[in-house]
Amino acid sequence: MNVYVAATLRGFFERNEVINIEGNTIGRVLDRLRDEYPDAGKVLFDDNGNLRRFIKIYVNDDNFTDQKHWDREFGETDEIYLIPAIAGGAAKRDSIISDERRKETAFDDKEIEKWGNHLLLREIGVKGQKRIKASRVVIFGAGALGSPVIQYLAAAGAGTIKIVDPKEVKPADLQNQVLHTERDIGRPRVASAKDKIRNINRKLEVITENTDPDAGNIEDLIDGFDVVVDCTDNYRTRYLIGDACAITGIPLVFGALYQYEGMVTIFNYEDGPCYRCQFPEPPAPGLVPTCAEGGTISPLPGIIGSIMANEVLKLITGIGAILSGRMLVIDSLYLHSRIVRVERDDECPVCGKDPTIYEVEDFDYEDFCGLKESDDEVPVEGIAAEELAKRIDNGDPITIIDVREPHERAINRFPDAKVIPIGQLARRQKELDPDIDTIFICKEGKRSILAINTLREAGYKGPMYNLKGGIEAAKDIVLSHEGAWL
Ligand SMILES: [Zn+2]
Repeated sequence: MNVYVAATLRGFFERNEVINIEGNTIGRVLDRLRDEYPDAGKVLFDDNGNLRRFIKIYVNDDNFTDQKHWDREFGETDEIYLIPAIAGGAAKRDSIISDERRKETAFDDKEIEKWGNHLLLREIGVKGQKRIKASRVVIFGAGALGSPVIQYLAAAGAGTIKIVDPKEVKPADLQNQVLHTERDIGRPRVASAKDKIRNINRKLEVITENTDPDAGNIEDLIDGFDVVVDCTDNYRTRYLIGDACAITGIPLVFGALYQYEGMVTIFNYEDGPCYRCQFPEPPAPGLVPTCAEGGTISPLPGIIGSIMANEVLKLITGIGAILSGRMLVIDSLYLHSRIVRVERDDECPVCGKDPTIYEVEDFDYEDFCGLKESDDEVPVEGIAAEELAKRIDNGDPITIIDVREPHERAINRFPDAKVIPIGQLARRQKELDPDIDTIFICKEGKRSILAINTLREAGYKGPMYNLKGGIEAAKDIVLSHEGAWL
């Protein structure tokens, strides 16, 4: 079985993180470990041979510290984790804000009153609060994750905050973007965000950029900042930000959401991994619904964004243990969380041994994220919603395939549509008639393209069309149409 050793214990295991030990029970594995690493034996066990109480033993996700489990048999793929129960008293870590910059910072009486809650914390104190005031943070995305990150960093007393976001506030944003209100609908998100945090801290310098980051502007956007926070929602921007931060050596606090689950980690901190070390490639377009397509439970961005802001403050003040080289994954539906290791990859094209990406300008992010149509790929033919309505009215022989998830169909459905999930299309292609047109529908017209390409790959030869813009684009027609569309 593989035994994973927590970083704090590795010194007793010849600095090994993972050790393969023969044995199918915890008891046998521990005996062998003691034989091979006598120093570790002394740390793990007391003089009476009992496991010391600050050590916890997990197999996969479950706690098997209690000796009564130690005879239970496990398989070769099960993994043992040895972790100390208390992670406190972390090694001294330097702040990312220099002593010179801290010393140049001063407080007036009002500020001392305002930041009193931090000044009382031994680890932060006056020195830490000065570092927070001296800090310059850039946040990409003023939406769901950006809202708590921006608010908490402003409330914590950050000196300079730059907010980069190209979008305007939409009604659907208010479900989880707590920075914005109904009065902000139609305004740039950055303007709305700036108004809110100016009311929290008048001394805060807020810089707003109502722009979409690209290879041409990303380096200017992050230049001179101490830490970058990625609160965006698409792969193209995430790779762009990740690469630019890795190349320029700026720590990146990363957070992501999907439905009920969120993750947080820190990239590019000292010798830690970068975004590409962890995620070398994005999923194919349409394969994984985006946060916008997949939905998110309202408080989740608050949970994840607050943890991100907390990590930013720990980087700035140099306290505690940070999520560099580790990724926190939280499932808010079942309240399950775990921290997984994230390792630097020697083969990484940005920070590995033989890097191939030195400048973001030389890399094609659109192509990498599959946003371009490749030359040898036959383009998917689209059909406009009006045209589809006409063909239904005329009683044309067509097949409509809805590839959306059941809960999406519950919001608005096409009664004439046959439902086939993308994963079953290849297997169920016999249900389609290759002599008549088949029209594929989804929410935004992206997954339907994936559906058509999937069937092509599976050898289906009949004519296929994609409903352009999906159900979203067809809404007005669908709603105003007299037929039983809804
Ligand atoms: Zn890397």
